[in-house]
Amino acid sequence: MDPEEFRRAGHAVVDWIADYWRTLDQRPVTTQDPPGTVTAALPTTPPTHGEPVAAMLADLDGIVVPRLTHWQHPGFFGYFPANTSGPSVLADLVSSGLGTQGMLWATSPAATELETVVLDWLADLMDLPATFRSTGPGGGVIQDSASSATLVATLAALHRASGGRWREVGVDRRYRAYTSAHGHSSIEKAARIAGLGGQGVRTVEVDPQTQAMRPAALRAAIVADLAAGEVPAIVVATIGTTSTTAVDPLPEIGAICAEYGVWLHVDAAYAGAAAICPELRWSHAGVEHADSYCFDPHKWLLTGFDCDAFWVADRGELIEALTVMPEFLRNAASESGAVIDYRDWQVPLGRRFRALKLWFVLRWYGVEGLRAHLRSGIALADGFATRVRADDRFALAAPHPFSLVTFRLRAGDEASAALLARVNDSGQVHLTHTRVNGRYTLRLAVGSPLTRPEHVDRAWDLLSAAATDILAGD
Ligand code: PLP
Repeated sequence: MDPEEFRRAGHAVVDWIADYWRTLDQRPVTTQDPPGTVTAALPTTPPTHGEPVAAMLADLDGIVVPRLTHWQHPGFFGYFPANTSGPSVLADLVSSGLGTQGMLWATSPAATELETVVLDWLADLMDLPATFRSTGPGGGVIQDSASSATLVATLAALHRASGGRWREVGVDRRYRAYTSAHGHSSIEKAARIAGLGGQGVRTVEVDPQTQAMRPAALRAAIVADLAAGEVPAIVVATIGTTSTTAVDPLPEIGAICAEYGVWLHVDAAYAGAAAICPELRWSHAGVEHADSYCFDPHKWLLTGFDCDAFWVADRGELIEALTVMPEFLRNAASESGAVIDYRDWQVPLGRRFRALKLWFVLRWYGVEGLRAHLRSGIALADGFATRVRADDRFALAAPHPFSLVTFRLRAGDEASAALLARVNDSGQVHLTHTRVNGRYTLRLAVGSPLTRPEHVDRAWDLLSAAATDILAGD
């Protein structure tokens, strides 16, 4: 494809994306087709001769798009949002076009420096601790996901807990990780990859009202492990748990971590974005205790997947834990000590230019535009919760400080599960579920930039009508 062919095809693809977004509301949110439908529609071998982009777009329309779950759909209320936006898509296009590989400062100086600046901007915007800035002892880096952030935090914590031995000898003692009963599954995965084993993760009980970690239970677990000769290495506290968006009490947890010398990682994958709004900064009280912190702009901050912003309070510990210097990567800039080589801050060596999309998003929306997006999601969720509260067939399951509402039918688990299945079968909305205090609970997470009050109204109308049928035995 020469540059002129690319220009023509590129215009057609951008038109195609714009049309997709414009007509999203007219599509079902999820497909009803059975597994294997797409496989059966695709040829079993690749084409012998090249095909025009128009043929690919036709197959996107005919085969692929009808069998997607449409995460940007205004009726998508499942999981947490993975929202994207025009500026993010355009920046990803530029990033792909540039095709740079920023493993070292020397392999892409501007990519490295832009990433550092954008993460410093974000840290300022969220009022994160001064130690997290690149001008202080720490700094920020973009990981592909919150799961990777938790993994590298775990590795840095092992480095510290072992007094630096872990680098050479691996896991030679019984190190422990701690998180609440609602801590994300990526914490157990990180512990397994890091060699702690799934059983190396202690699950700390939560308060049944707030669903947040109980500091007294954390202390008891650490004390018991120490008495058994084990080594508490890392506590992962959550701001905005996946089940209910509970906020673990960082001031108390941080004090316990400081007392026992345990690394504190804060996983704010979804709710971290809220710190951009001054009125929501209460959710980050105590974050100054964190040794590391991450949130996913790819969830609620209009930046397309994948983009996790990860900061450490002391970059030296992270770099010592992860750095390996083969001869073929040696270069004068790295040896000068004056540059950042982000390869030492992550698991892979290579890295693409993800900072571009954060830069485009921050510049296109501006701080106030981002705040407006976050606030509109919270207001819509609040309006939905008000309707749940006013209907005595329903009960809210937990507080809803952000844009997720958790609720159930008072009639019980079976009725609640039937309700979820029925509204999702309508194809007009998509919700997911969890368990809160052992009970089946529906989750409605607002986050698509296309979601307007009428879409939340439609979700409520569907839920209410389905509840009427289910409770009548229909
Ligand atoms: N942590 C929390 C609290 C989450 O809610 C999620 C995903 O929803 C994750 C971590 C994992 O995020 P990622 O897909 O970026 O690894």
